[in-house]
Amino acid sequence: MERSEIVSNLETVRHRVSQAARRSGRSPSAVELLVVSKTWPAEVVAHVVEAGHGLLGENKLQEAELKMAGLPSAVRWHFIGRLQRNKARRALALFDAIHSVDSLRLAGHLSRIAGEMGKTARIYLQVNLADEESKGGFSVAQLRKDLPELIAMPNLGIAGLMSIPPAVEQPEEARSSFQKLREVRDSLRSDVGVEIRGLSMGMSHDFEVAIEEGATIVRVGSSIFGPRSPQGLP
Ligand SMILES: *Cc1c(COP(=O)(O)O)cnc(C)c1O
Repeated sequence: MERSEIVSNLETVRHRVSQAARRSGRSPSAVELLVVSKTWPAEVVAHVVEAGHGLLGENKLQEAELKMAGLPSAVRWHFIGRLQRNKARRALALFDAIHSVDSLRLAGHLSRIAGEMGKTARIYLQVNLADEESKGGFSVAQLRKDLPELIAMPNLGIAGLMSIPPAVEQPEEARSSFQKLREVRDSLRSDVGVEIRGLSMGMSHDFEVAIEEGATIVRVGSSIFGPRSPQGLP
């Protein structure tokens, strides 16, 4: 895709994000746009950075590392892929937040390594709402059980919950999943009395519905860069 097309897509997505926020009575600034740049090379990703966008999402460490080297250091990056424990240190060094923390064990590991690095690991807890075998994440029951331990971890900053709902034909069909994630967040809040604020939910196909249901950060790739080649799919 041409540079001008990518920049115009970015503007369209930003506008749709703002409109969806306003529609649901929220300030557009309450919703962050994470531009998912996975599979696209630095030269292509540079178009959105030069257009003033500074928050990018990647799902593979090595690919991200290469890309970061070719882009301004002011860009902030979030990790959205499956993270192996032995890569926790690298991920914490490179990324401002990790959206895909899917077990108590991984969370504990991140907290420990972050402590060694003198920082706090900013994370989202991934929730597998439909208990899909193919997807990672805490079941709601497991999350309830593990939350007290998660909260007690000294170097873990729980930014919110994240989910990747089952693929649907129509964006509207994803609404109930988004509602459910919000309800889970609200009930955890009142159960444990801890402020879990964020909701990382909504992708190209359905981000407006996600915002209407309370998303605080949406993860959007193909609406901006175009379709990824099949080998680049997660
Ligand atoms: C690839 C990916 C996205 C972006 O998907 P699009 O449909 O291209 O917007 C969002 N979240 C996660 C976890 C992803 O892996």
